[in-house]
Amino acid sequence: MKRHASNTQTPRVNILKKIKVNGAWKLMPAVLEPNGKLKDKVRIGGSIEIHSEGTYYIEWWEGPKRKREAIPDRARVPDLANRKALALAAARAGLDVGSDALNRGEKVTQGIPLDVAIQHYLDDIEPPQREPKTYTAYKYALNAFRKGCAKSSIEHIVRADLLQFIRGQYESGCSARTAYNRANIVVQFLKLNGVKGLLHKRDWPEYVDAIRKIYEADELKTLFAACLEHERVRYLFFLLTGERDKEVRFTAWRDIDFRRGTVRVTAKPQLGFKPKNKEEREIPVPSALLEALKDYKNRQQGPNPYNLVFPTEAGRPDKNFESKLKNIAKRAGLNCGTCASRHGNRCSEGPYCSNWFLHKFRHTFATVNLEGNVCSICKLQEWLGHKDLASTVVYLKYVRGKDVQERLDNSELAGFAIPQALKQSSHEIDRPSPT
Ligand SMILES: [Zn+2]
Repeated sequence: MKRHASNTQTPRVNILKKIKVNGAWKLMPAVLEPNGKLKDKVRIGGSIEIHSEGTYYIEWWEGPKRKREAIPDRARVPDLANRKALALAAARAGLDVGSDALNRGEKVTQGIPLDVAIQHYLDDIEPPQREPKTYTAYKYALNAFRKGCAKSSIEHIVRADLLQFIRGQYESGCSARTAYNRANIVVQFLKLNGVKGLLHKRDWPEYVDAIRKIYEADELKTLFAACLEHERVRYLFFLLTGERDKEVRFTAWRDIDFRRGTVRVTAKPQLGFKPKNKEEREIPVPSALLEALKDYKNRQQGPNPYNLVFPTEAGRPDKNFESKLKNIAKRAGLNCGTCASRHGNRCSEGPYCSNWFLHKFRHTFATVNLEGNVCSICKLQEWLGHKDLASTVVYLKYVRGKDVQERLDNSELAGFAIPQALKQSSHEIDRPSPT
C-alpha cells in the first residue's frame, strides 16, 4: 500500500527481525513479500538475505521514545503492525484506546476505533490511487455505516450491525443493487481489518440485473440525420467502437490505425487516463467509419495540444459528450416526452430525456454485433475490454435470431391471437368447397 504524506498519515510501525550475523544477534529490517506476507527475508546492508532463525519485532515511536515488541507468530506480524499503527493514530487523534493498551502486547489487537480505521482506509484509496468516483462511493458507504453503527470499535461489529446497515439503505430509498454495492464496500473494508464472514449468503440484497436497453435502427437514423458533421462522427464512433465515455474522451489520433483498420484504447499518463482493468486493447472498425474519421480529421480546427480526436473547442478532453447527445436528441424530436431526470428536469421541456445516454451505444454495439454474428462472445469480450466473460455473457440474453419473429408468427400459439374473422375467411379460401 502506498501512503502519501498528509496530516492524517498513519504513524509508522517498522517490522524487524532479530537474526544472527557473524555470531551476534542483530535487529534488521524485515522485507515484506508483494502479497504482504513475511518469508524470513531481511535487509542487510544493500542486499536481501533469508534468515529463518530469530524472532520478529514491531517497532514504533511514542513521542521521542522508541518502543519494540516481540511477536513470536510470523503469520500475525504484518497484521499486528497494521493494527498498532491504527491504535497509535487513534491515540494521536485523542481517542481513548487506553495508553496501557498500547504498551501491552496482548492488547495490541483490541479497540481499533471505527473512525480511525475508516479514515486510514480512505487515505489509502484517495485519488489518484483510485478513481475519484470510486473514492466518493466508498466514502459515502463507509460514513453511512459509521453513522448508523452503535459500535465504536471494529472488533465489536457483528452480523446484526451489517443487517441494520442494509435495512437503513433500503429505508433511505435506494435500490437493492445500490444496497448490495454499499454492503459490499463495508464488507471489504471490515475484511481488510480482520473482521470476516459476518454475512450469510441469504443476507445479501438480491437485485435483478436491469435490462440493457439498445437504440433502434430508426431512432439512430433520425439522430444522425439531425447531427452536424462533427457530431455525427463522434456518435458514430461511440456506436461502432462500443467504447466507454472516458475511452472516447481520451482517444488520440495516434490510437487510430487507418492502415490496419483498428482503434486502440491506450493509457495517457499526461492526462491522467488509464484504461479500466489496466488493459490496453484494440477494436476493429468498419472502413466507412475510418473514411468518416479521415474526412473529419482534415477539417478539424482549433487548438489540440494532446492530439485528441474529439477535444473541446479549447483543445481539452471533453466531459460533455452525454449532455451534447441529449441536446441533439431534443433537436431531432427524439425525446420520449414523459420522463423526468433525478433532479426533476422534464424531458418534455428540455434536453433531459433518459432514453438518450452514452452507454446505450455500448449496449447497442454489443447486442447487434452478437445478433449479426459479427464476432464470437470471446472476441466481443476483448473488444469491450471486459475483465470477466460473465459481463459479456449478459448481452447474450438480449440477442434474438433473425428468424425468431417469423417462427413466432407462424406458431400454433400465435394462431389464438389472430382475430376470428380473419381466421375464418382464410379458412374458407383454403378449404376446397364441398360439392
Ligand atoms: Zn424522455
